[in-house]
Formats: sequence, C-alpha cells, structure tokens
Amino acid sequence: MVWSQGCALGCPGCFNPQTHSGSGAGVVRTAGEVAEEVLADAACVEGVTVTGGEPLEQPAAVAAFCGAVRARSGLSVIVLSGFSRAEIEADAARSAAVADADVVIAGRYNARLRLARGLRGSANKEYWLRTGRYTAGDLAAVPELEITVTDDGTLTFTGMAAPEGEF
Ligand code: SF4
Repeated sequence: MVWSQGCALGCPGCFNPQTHSGSGAGVVRTAGEVAEEVLADAACVEGVTVTGGEPLEQPAAVAAFCGAVRARSGLSVIVLSGFSRAEIEADAARSAAVADADVVIAGRYNARLRLARGLRGSANKEYWLRTGRYTAGDLAAVPELEITVTDDGTLTFTGMAAPEGEF
C-alpha cells in the first residue's frame, strides 16, 4: 500500500482526514524512491495499491511510480481515487497517471452509501477495470479487515472495516 499525502476533495465522513494536508509531516519522497522500495518486496506481494489522500492530486508522480512498477515487475496496480472516471478521463494528467493501473476505484466517498466491504468504501464508487487481471468479483471478495501483529506487539489494522480508537 502506498499512501499519498494531500486531498482537497473534502468528502464528508472521510476516514482518513490526516492525509488531507498537502504538507503532511514534511517528508517528501520521490516516485522513484517509493518504487524502489516496492520493487524490493515484489517477490512477497501480488500487487500494489495506491491510495491517500488523493493520489491524482500528484498525477505526474503517480504516473512515474505506476510506470516503473509496470515496467519492472509483474505486480498488479490498483489506484483508489476520489475523482470519478469521467473526471479522470477528462484530464490528460490524471489519465496518464492511471495508464498503467489494472483497476481504478473511482468516485467520492459517500458516507450515506457506506459499504466497508471489498475495496469500495461506499456503494457509489466504481470499479473501473482497465485490464483483465481482476474482476469486480475478485475485488469484492477482498477481506474486510486485516490485522498485522509485529514482534513488539504493535497492531496494524488495514481494510475498509478498520476499527477506530486505540488498542
Ligand atoms: S477523496 Fe478520499 S481522502 Fe479525499 S476526502 Fe474523499 S474519502 Fe477522504
């Protein structure tokens, strides 16, 4: 999972408001650096998901990252975006950013249509299948929650049904 910093779309009920600031923690990493880190683990994972924040507010970086992953590995590429498919297709930079994606999960989060299943946070979001690598059924079958426990007891929750609060 690659998290991009910065989102100005302002979906009410967004689960990840700490990603909205464009400045984040002041750490800036290039697309190439992030790609190298992902590619170093390419043998251990099936693919990479780019989320945020809003990845397509940094379209050139996302294009470079996805292009490097596509050119140098067999990893799948999924991009989660708050922009709709129409908004992406109408913009050359955003279109280029997803050119190497197998799937784009597109559209604003709508809290009234919350799903918390598969890879869609809300029912209005679209599975835009750009290659034949995955079906909508594959994506809908993704576990709702994954819990990782490290040696020091740190718990990391990943998924659409991640609980809130401290543990
Ligand atoms: S696009 Fe995503 S990160 Fe941005 S406000 Fe909407 S749900 Fe939050």
